Amino acid sequence: MICDNITKTKNRIATVCLKVKRDPAAIQLLAVTKNRSIEEIQGVISAGITDLGENRVQEALLKYQSIKGVKWHMVGHLQMNKVRDAVKVFEMIQSVDSLRLAREINKEALKLNKIQDVLFEVKISPELTKFGINIEGLPEIIEEVAKLNNLNICGLMSIAPIADSAEYARPYFRKLRELRDKVNKSWILSIGMSDDFEVAIEEGSDMVRIGRAIFD
Ligand SMILES: *Cc1c(COP(=O)(O)O)cnc(C)c1O
Repeated sequence: MICDNITKTKNRIATVCLKVKRDPAAIQLLAVTKNRSIEEIQGVISAGITDLGENRVQEALLKYQSIKGVKWHMVGHLQMNKVRDAVKVFEMIQSVDSLRLAREINKEALKLNKIQDVLFEVKISPELTKFGINIEGLPEIIEEVAKLNNLNICGLMSIAPIADSAEYARPYFRKLRELRDKVNKSWILSIGMSDDFEVAIEEGSDMVRIGRAIFD
């Protein structure tokens, strides 16, 4: 079933790419494995998935012990006291939402002699999503974080507001893409989940984070 779901998801990605003339190979498919079992995760890996997203450090640590050869992405809110473990496990931390957190990640990465890939989590709809950096505050944070030698800023991540229709997310995604284009065109955009990934790809997503469409 997981295998079928992945095939279906990839077909949907291919279909929307054809529509907007994008290369499907350029869209990274991240399987979000929070609350999923080791067996389920092994299922997605057998189906060719190489990148996994988790939103709790503790859970990721446990899974990391038994699942090797994949890249782990932190997609949930990261607490200061979990940074040390997070830097050990995650190839990419997508949820950098404050300068304070960025500095802590940098400090722990330095101890491990690691250059930590990170994304800034942006709050594109202040009234509707909880975590993330306000768009107005982003330039200043980017400037400060750029000075941290053990962080590699790779782009922006965002969660669309919950809505009945994926179309509702479109203007938010578009706004984020415009912001990315203004700041750094080569940065990646991590946007799009099970309910809205097609719209996200149309609006320029480079990485979709899919949970339910793969596992349910
Ligand atoms: C759970 C989660 C996802 C996946 O959501 P689905 O709707 O199950 O596809 C993506 N990104 C983040 C940050 C998540 O917490």
